[in-house]
Amino acid sequence: MATATQAIPVDENVSKYVAKKRQMLINGKWVDAASGKTFPTYNPATGEVLAHVAEGDKEDVDRAVAAARAAFDKGPWRNITPSERGRVIWKLADLLEKRLEEFAQLECLDQGKPLGLTRMVDIPTSIDQLRYYAGWATKVEGSTIPISAHGAKFLAYTLREPIGVVGQIIPWNFPMIMATLKLAPALATGCTVVLKPAEQTPLTALMLGELIQEAGIPDGVVNIITGYGETAGAALAAHPNVDKIAFTGSTEVGKLIVHAAAGNLKKVSLELGGKSPNIVFHDAEIESAIPGAANAIFFNQGQVCCAGSRLYVEDKQFDKVVDGVSQLASKIRVGPGMESTSDMGPVVSEEQMNRVCSYLESGFSEGAKAVTGGSRHGEKGYFVKPTVLVNTNEKMKVVREEIFGPVVTVMPFSDVDDLIAKANNTPYGLAAAVWTRDIKKAHRTAAALRAGTVWINCYGVLDSAMPFGGYKQSGWGREMGKEMLELYTEVKSVCTPIS
Ligand code: NDP
Repeated sequence: MATATQAIPVDENVSKYVAKKRQMLINGKWVDAASGKTFPTYNPATGEVLAHVAEGDKEDVDRAVAAARAAFDKGPWRNITPSERGRVIWKLADLLEKRLEEFAQLECLDQGKPLGLTRMVDIPTSIDQLRYYAGWATKVEGSTIPISAHGAKFLAYTLREPIGVVGQIIPWNFPMIMATLKLAPALATGCTVVLKPAEQTPLTALMLGELIQEAGIPDGVVNIITGYGETAGAALAAHPNVDKIAFTGSTEVGKLIVHAAAGNLKKVSLELGGKSPNIVFHDAEIESAIPGAANAIFFNQGQVCCAGSRLYVEDKQFDKVVDGVSQLASKIRVGPGMESTSDMGPVVSEEQMNRVCSYLESGFSEGAKAVTGGSRHGEKGYFVKPTVLVNTNEKMKVVREEIFGPVVTVMPFSDVDDLIAKANNTPYGLAAAVWTRDIKKAHRTAAALRAGTVWINCYGVLDSAMPFGGYKQSGWGREMGKEMLELYTEVKSVCTPIS
């Protein structure tokens, strides 16, 4: 019997929020774009306009950077005690927790992912990140250094100081998580910020701006500019008064950011794409590896930088794993995020849907076969069927390039050295996973993989406290954990003779 769909009623505050033109936050004021222009953001489950948002560009970025510069130089944020900064960030987390349902619904409507996911993962993760870095505000320390310079005795020590004005450009796959992950360490260390969310998903970052004000973060410390990457984003990346750019998104745009940042040699941190190998050895606990491999690629419609998109399975278990993952894929209920019966929502936009489908076409033209899925799902909205591709090899585009959709390529292996060479044969190096009961083999393989994170007998476990970032073209620097504080601070050495 087919299950009836269950539409979840939209919260009244969320309906009111999207009905009104959304403005940008500059210097503590909600303002239109200087040009007066707006752009629409769409509900990817229907393709209909969800809300209209100010279209900021260079002039607005100039205003926002000026506000952030003044707020940094005058110091109402960096000069309060670390304890007070931590308290305010913690309050922001509390305010977000109180309005979790509204944020979860708004994220679901704007991004597409199922409400169950935004309620259980996205918004709680944002709250956790804020609290984690609130705790760090009081622990950003320098050190004393015993130096050996001749002539006198010296006292030498380091201060760890906020880096200054930070431009943060974030993508659409986890809009709230990306916003709080960028904001929390910047705020904890005393920086000021201009945040630019993705054009596809600007709404939750803007609503967070209201809470930022309510929490008592001074005007100009956080400015939020909505607009397009080629205009607003590019202006922010090139701005001479910005001290650092933190970017998450495609490797292609990451390279543009590096070029743009060269003008004033601002510091840059990048969290970019991936094509992560997920390796199942014959001695793995197959009952865990199969759902683990399915979740590694289908979570968030596959729009995850560390998705397990290349699944390598040892010969003896190949058929069983392909069969198991395909069965799970075919049972995933694809539908609007605001229906309680949906396990998987649409991809974020028509452009992304077409991009994923064109990868599928390219795979088929090169000889790949879909065991399940392989096309768009339905005709309304931007849905793609969860897809398992076999008959694939390392020469194919679907194996080499980041698809960023619910598409996994499964390939058999027999020789471990050959497997490692193939797994590492990619410009990316964000993540990888190994499934085996053999503890020595697990750690040998983890050591041989050139990736910023390696999971053993699990996949996609991320935590505010655990550093995450890429080898090779997957990025510069590590986010999360105490390592992320380094991205937002400068080290100053102070030295004086004391003899
Ligand atoms: P982009 O890299 O274009 O977008 C990420 C952010 O960069 C957005 O805020 C975007 O703004 C902004 N941006 C775009 N161009 C510029 C520019 N010239 N200067 C400064 N900022 C800019 O990702 P796409 O949306 O185009 O997605 C394409 C592919 O990128 C995906 O299929 C996936 O492979 C990869 N990707 C990887 C992500 C990750 O987490 N590593 C996240 C998202 C995408 P705006 O959106 O407003 O144009």
